[in-house]
Amino acid sequence: HDVTPVSPDYVISDRFAGKTYIVTGSARGMGKVAADRLAREGANVVGVDWIADEGAAVIAAIKAAGGKAEFVPGDVSDTAVCDRMVEVAVSTFGGLDGAINNAGVMDAIPPSEPIDYDKQKDLAFNPVHLASDAYWDVVMRVNATGVFRCMRAQLRHMVEQGKGGSIVNVASVAGLRGFSSTPSYVASKHAVNGLTKNAAIDYAPYGIRINSVNMANTDTPMVQRAKQLVGARMKALGGVGMGTIKTRSLLQYADTDHRDATPEEQVAIMLFLLSDEASNITGANWATDGGFTTY
Ligand code: ADP
Repeated sequence: HDVTPVSPDYVISDRFAGKTYIVTGSARGMGKVAADRLAREGANVVGVDWIADEGAAVIAAIKAAGGKAEFVPGDVSDTAVCDRMVEVAVSTFGGLDGAINNAGVMDAIPPSEPIDYDKQKDLAFNPVHLASDAYWDVVMRVNATGVFRCMRAQLRHMVEQGKGGSIVNVASVAGLRGFSSTPSYVASKHAVNGLTKNAAIDYAPYGIRINSVNMANTDTPMVQRAKQLVGARMKALGGVGMGTIKTRSLLQYADTDHRDATPEEQVAIMLFLLSDEASNITGANWATDGGFTTY
């Protein structure tokens, strides 16, 4: 299927040569960087995203540069899409060695739509008593159910294949701590960390390692979008803590002098966890947050 000659400038290492990985959410942000970096380190990559045009363009660019990749459009919470991503890995590349389950959302508005805060304010970033079903349902479905269904499809094949492997689930510092006005995001990311620990136990006997990474603000379209959406709302809600509990916004960094992590920094950690160098690490919920959760 792949007629593009491999460019020595594109493939920079053979760390993942002969291995095949699924990367969900590969159209933008960390998933896009992860798909590209894996291909540059010799892996076969199956990218998945529900933004079909951008997702296809990212994979086409990898192929044009000399990487090995295929694209599966669709929603990671759809079981048929989860089955399809595994089928494509197996039929195109002959197997599956693992995945980066990275697709996620922070609000209930389709990411391809421009932000109209006044129109959409009820759909995102409200405390429980103001939160909409749309916000709860979409974020839980994509972030929590999506990781469950993707892992289920991946693990069914990996168990049968019997060659071990490694899965990295992308959670968030919101999976380790509470933050104001993001109930569904916080709950869904805690679910990702819980699923990771559960599956790590069940699949260790098969030589399959399963870990999660928990980043604070990383410079991606999702975080830029959340900062834009949240602005005034977060400030208005500020200061409702109960004395000892300081109100804490996931995006509190927006008002402070700090540096967002780069997607490349996060992807370096994900690829380490996928690699054999991490052979004794499973069930870990790593804080990859520049120290955010140290206090
Ligand atoms: P991040 O900060 O996680 O990199 P982005 O929004 O920049 O956030 O990237 C997340 C990617 O995941 C986007 O390309 C988005 O389209 C994708 N994504 C989100 N939800 C789904 C879903 N349900 N199915 C497939 N892809 C999804």
